[in-house]
Amino acid sequence: MEESRTIEKVVNLAKRRGFIFPSSEIYGGLSAAYDYGPLGVELKNNIKRTWWKMFVSERLDMVGLDAAIIMHPKTWEASGHLDNFSDPLVECKKCHRRFRYDHLLEDKTIVPQHDKTKPIDPKDIVCPECGGELTDVKQFNMMFKTFMGPVEDSASIVYLRPETAGGIFVNFKNVLDTQRLRLPFGIAQIGKAFRNEITTENFIFRTREFEQMEVEYFIEPKGWEKHFDSWLGVMRDWCKFLGLKKEDLVEVEISEKDRAFYSKRTIDFEYKFPFGQKELYGLAYRTDYDLTQHQKASGQDLAYTDPVTREKFLPHVIEPSLGVDRSFLAVLLSAYTEIDGGRSTTTKAIKDVEVVLKLPYQLAPIKVAVLPLSKKEELSKVSQDILLKLKKNFVCVYDETASIGKRYRRQDEIGTPYCVTVDFDSLEDKKVTVRDRDTMEQERIAIDELAAYFQEKLNY
Ligand code: ATP
Repeated sequence: MEESRTIEKVVNLAKRRGFIFPSSEIYGGLSAAYDYGPLGVELKNNIKRTWWKMFVSERLDMVGLDAAIIMHPKTWEASGHLDNFSDPLVECKKCHRRFRYDHLLEDKTIVPQHDKTKPIDPKDIVCPECGGELTDVKQFNMMFKTFMGPVEDSASIVYLRPETAGGIFVNFKNVLDTQRLRLPFGIAQIGKAFRNEITTENFIFRTREFEQMEVEYFIEPKGWEKHFDSWLGVMRDWCKFLGLKKEDLVEVEISEKDRAFYSKRTIDFEYKFPFGQKELYGLAYRTDYDLTQHQKASGQDLAYTDPVTREKFLPHVIEPSLGVDRSFLAVLLSAYTEIDGGRSTTTKAIKDVEVVLKLPYQLAPIKVAVLPLSKKEELSKVSQDILLKLKKNFVCVYDETASIGKRYRRQDEIGTPYCVTVDFDSLEDKKVTVRDRDTMEQERIAIDELAAYFQEKLNY
């Protein structure tokens, strides 16, 4: 990751241009909660839409689902979340800050004199903020709890889902019975998940409310390797589509000792964020753990019967699990490009560092900016007509303030692939100038052909 792409610069751009705002900002903000602004919601929707296309609608073996966020609490008992979905917590005895013990180990805050041949004792680790002594490790459950209905007693406790996968497993039988599906097939879901993380950090990388895009792909246990490899390929294609550079991505094979006990293979996709190499996505072969657990806890028969051999068994599962917000952050970081001295030769104003957000065109929040060369009424009228026509198919903006060079820069900074400039010649020849964000090449295109031109260029 290049030095110039610091997290501060991206956070600043995101706030300044309306991608991401601190949540409830007028009340001082809420720690690690963020709102996606007008440009952010477009980019986020584009990420989700293209994921759905690539992982669901373009395939023959996938269907979708949108399950409730608040589910029967037994779901989380069965899945093991209520007992085990916890992170190791330590507290500083001096400043009372709380940390995730495993993160402190990763961050190497271990006191220098620690003998590496011996197991690590919490006492060998000090508070990274004040150097104070830490408490013993406690397990802290991350499930968000609330009450369902008017009575606040233990019988009405429910949880916000900590992952979208649970909704898929409990609907496995419903989907199977209604969709005439045969193995292998998958169910996908995009939705919010909630985890009461001990520490939140690094902008939208780790928050307590976030969004996931998950697939549970049901298979026969025999030959699971080929399905795993095939999803590995899909995830690699996805990362490429997002514009993530190969050198910023690392696939980490998780060793048996670090995998969940039921998983026979797990690969984490890690991304070299400016604050360290961290998990972006996960791909896991979860065997038949989930369906077994839900079958046991619900007492329902969740088995699949092979229509040819009549063999009855619980399908196994391959799970690609992706975070929407982490995708968003990696996309912004990968696209953020600074050009020293600017790249335009036409405008004097453009001499300092120029920022171009080189987003894949399909992800760009705004596809086309319509820019009349002057505010004169005859140009405004033609420009507004063009805008209204293009808006039927593309997210467009209109900007008539400042010099044309400055307006191009504004659009470059938010990643708009095309600018349409309407000038006085346009009134005569019924053509406009289309400028490409990356090549800066300009083409004269007939107004009547604009929609078809962008349709083709933007791959709609
Ligand atoms: P981490 O080790 O970073 O806590 P995890 O291994 O617990 O992540 P999973 O349970 O595998 O994460 O969740 C699947 C995906 O959901 C992650 O790869 C990530 O993209 C996303 N995700 C998980 N927790 C968060 C969070 N607190 N904020 C934003 N995204 C998250």
